[in-house]
Amino acid sequence: MIVGSGFSGSLLAWILQKNGLNCVLVDQAKHPRFAIGESSTPTADFLVRHLADRWGLRELEPLAKYGTWRQTYPSLVCGKKRGFTYYHHRQGHPFQDDALHSNSMMVAASRDDFQSDTHWLRSDVDQWLFQQAVKAGTVGLEQTKIRSSYFESVGHRWQTDLVGPDNQPLEVRSQWLIDATGGSQGIRPWTGVQPDSDWMRTRTSALFGHFRDVAPFGCTTPSHQTDLQTLFDGDDSAQHHVVQDGWLWALRFGNGVTSLGIVQPEGVCQHELSQVDLERTWHEWLERYPSVHQMIAKSTRVGPESGLGWMARLSRCNDRASGPGWVSLPTAYGFVDPLHSSGIAHALSGVARLSEAFLGDEGAVEQQIRKYALEVKNELRWIDTFVGLCYRALPDFEMFLGMCAYYFVSAIGFERDVAKDPMHWPRGYMLSDDRALREAGETTWQAASSGKTITLDQIRRSIAPWNDVGLLSAGGGNRLAHTAARKELL
Ligand SMILES: Cc1cc2nc3c(=O)[nH]c(=O)nc-3n(C[C@H](O)[C@H](O)[C@H](O)COP(=O)(O)OP(=O)(O)OC[C@H]3O[C@@H](n4cnc5c(N)ncnc54)[C@H](O)[C@@H]3O)c2cc1C
Repeated sequence: MIVGSGFSGSLLAWILQKNGLNCVLVDQAKHPRFAIGESSTPTADFLVRHLADRWGLRELEPLAKYGTWRQTYPSLVCGKKRGFTYYHHRQGHPFQDDALHSNSMMVAASRDDFQSDTHWLRSDVDQWLFQQAVKAGTVGLEQTKIRSSYFESVGHRWQTDLVGPDNQPLEVRSQWLIDATGGSQGIRPWTGVQPDSDWMRTRTSALFGHFRDVAPFGCTTPSHQTDLQTLFDGDDSAQHHVVQDGWLWALRFGNGVTSLGIVQPEGVCQHELSQVDLERTWHEWLERYPSVHQMIAKSTRVGPESGLGWMARLSRCNDRASGPGWVSLPTAYGFVDPLHSSGIAHALSGVARLSEAFLGDEGAVEQQIRKYALEVKNELRWIDTFVGLCYRALPDFEMFLGMCAYYFVSAIGFERDVAKDPMHWPRGYMLSDDRALREAGETTWQAASSGKTITLDQIRRSIAPWNDVGLLSAGGGNRLAHTAARKELL
């Protein structure tokens, strides 16, 4: 039984069902429903492609590239994402750059629009995956909640009482309970798992929504003069409008809707905010940054229906990712922050590993799950460090970009490993098992936390063994032509 039919629960159900297991997929909501977390990455695309090949999901494969997605599923909404862009805004001043692009960075992930990554309109994508799982034979139960669940260790069996629409009672017996409830901690009452977030270094909040009529930011800045391949429209990217203590994301979908979200340090706003407070906070923030304000001046909010979304603290973690008869997908176990868009890829990496565990040698399932649970724990710590470093660097934009390099070397290294052999990740997810890289990041974290001055040159030296794509190269003009491993070679 998989609890939660977001993209990760639905995709896992589809894979397991198609390859011989019987799944029940339960969700308290009904598709299509609003969901946040939409900017995908080359890492995610590699994993989508791998999962499609490995488990015979022909229909999934087109989702690995913008071009094939649009050709095959024109009505399944996505956005074109050519890479990451970062624009530095100063309070009260319009955005301004110089010839060296000191106030912006563009990192191209793909060579052209066809090979491009995507933003996922999650209401569409999650519903589509749910439908695929059901088409494969999964029992899909929407608007259904767990009333109680009990694990009998003798016999390795869960007995779960559910309540469906119209209070209809249901009973399910399953060998495994898989937690795919994201941040809702939906199976916590039945597993005894405890929150364990105090150690986390990244502590931010988010205020977000979907908007229509967001104007282009208009920063189609000429890229590195010697390399025309870097040229892409800054609006076709995961746009980061970076300010003194946080940033605003802007992700444009093909249907005219844009996802916008402000990320600020935890505690900048009170935990309990009314919708009126949220609206006020939203407008006050935007008014401080004239160019961002201009971009959203004529926009209207179209989602979520209930008003602006608000999360007082984004980073969270549980004390474990598995236990007797249960296992959590990565986002149900923990999450750090939207910076670097690592959530979708992490969730997919969990789907990949749990598929191998459940569809592999039956006698080794428990051992595989224990191994996965330790890995995910280790990965979350690394993600927390490379994201936390960026926030530590603020308000210094140059250092913020410098710290982003830890993410980029991790993602690029992992993508290369997956492109070489998608079944083996010798350095772990996002190079989380690369001890030297972890030490390099930790040394920088310790220095930054103790108030020592860190120079860009120190970061350059720190990442040098992994940096063969020219990150932070002096005179590079903050423009990177192509960083991801080539999808067309897969
Ligand atoms: C503010 C924010 C911004 C983000 N931005 C990005 C980004 O740009 N890029 C990126 O890669 N990642 C991003 N993420 C992370 C991303 O949202 C997650 O990785 C992703 O949502 C994980 O999907 P999922 O299917 O595992 O869980 P979810 O999408 O959370 O789905 C969980 C499902 O479980 C159901 N559910 C919950 N509780 C219960 C219950 N008790 N019983 C039954 N059903 C239940 C819910 O209805 C839902 O359908 C962001 C996260 C946040 C918080």
